[in-house]
Amino acid sequence: MSEKIPVAVLGATGAVGQKFIKLLQDHPWFEVTQVAASERSVGRRYEEVVAWKQNTPIPESVRILEVRPCTPDLDCRIAFSGLDAAVAGEVEDSFARAGCVVLSNSKNHRMDADVPLVIPELNHDHLGLIPIQRRNRGTSGFIVTNSNCSTMFLAMALGPLHRAFTVEKVFVATMQAVSGAGYPGVPSLDILGNVIPYIGGEEEKMECETRKILGRFDGEGIEFADFPVSAQCNRVAVEDGHTESVSVQLRTKASAQEIIQVLREFYGPPQQLRLPSAPEHPVVVMGAQDRPQPRFDVNLYGGMTAIVGRIRPCSVLDFKFTVLGHNTVRGAAGASILNAELLKAQGFLD
Ligand code: NAP
Repeated sequence: MSEKIPVAVLGATGAVGQKFIKLLQDHPWFEVTQVAASERSVGRRYEEVVAWKQNTPIPESVRILEVRPCTPDLDCRIAFSGLDAAVAGEVEDSFARAGCVVLSNSKNHRMDADVPLVIPELNHDHLGLIPIQRRNRGTSGFIVTNSNCSTMFLAMALGPLHRAFTVEKVFVATMQAVSGAGYPGVPSLDILGNVIPYIGGEEEKMECETRKILGRFDGEGIEFADFPVSAQCNRVAVEDGHTESVSVQLRTKASAQEIIQVLREFYGPPQQLRLPSAPEHPVVVMGAQDRPQPRFDVNLYGGMTAIVGRIRPCSVLDFKFTVLGHNTVRGAAGASILNAELLKAQGFLD
């Protein structure tokens, strides 16, 4: 009988940590054996300290676990990190030094030159940075990151277009869900009936992470994609799901029909390898003129897909469209789990 790989969830009590626990329930390859969080939670049972906000009960095997400190003596091969950025950097380093494979959701290491920032359908070859990272840092473990949640859906929509037509310029304005700010996140009196036109650091993340993800691994490092991204980020009173209005200029001129075809036919290693968390289609194009909408569409393919709609000519650049995705699933925990599945399939966990 094959044994599952033991995994720890760091920041297990937070919005992303809870999503890890939910998505890893009954996972065919991984089993949550450790949960860790801050001093506020350490030493108590998970069910006592977590403000559980998922629509399924806390898995029985996790409910009774004692919350541990985020120290690398945890018995795990993989550490899924949903840690607050204030502490993620050093904690994740310490786990990698201890030989752990760290899958991070935080901003701290995303732009490190030797850390892969991976969306498996787009840039699985960036995992070639792992031996370089191990050599540079003298560690047996390593860190792989996934992008900021709003970058995720922009990159998933742009990636196939960049391959087919070469992206030259991008404008994006986001409408981001409150769950993107963690729990308890934005106070209700600030967000109800309101739009907040500022999310600290978010625009900068979208503007540089997109270019790293769509960049080229040349055997030594990542050569960033050579197009500017201008992002404007807004927090709106939506529970889950980031919606983005995108305008794009393409070097090779294309028709709307060609763009739709490229997006609909797009797939990558997760689909080829039939990874357990891979959506059947990484990008879905909806035809109705008033879709996608977060309330109705965010959970398509289990929240693991980028949903595009309203593809139409732009009077300033070439085309504009809307893209929606689930910020704590494909935008966070689900992305890390898919990255871990890819690492296993490619032999990095042997
Ligand atoms: P959150 O709900 O505030 O959760 C933060 C977690 O970090 C909690 O488990 C908390 O534990 C733990 N923590 C805080 N201070 C700590 C310390 N000193 N030592 C150890 N653990 C500590 O935040 P979140 O939304 O889940 O976000 C987690 C990370 O993912 C952030 O870096 C965020 O930027 C990133 N991210 C979030 C989303 C999203 O949609 N929410 C998407 C992508 C990326 P306690 O409960 O014990 O305090």
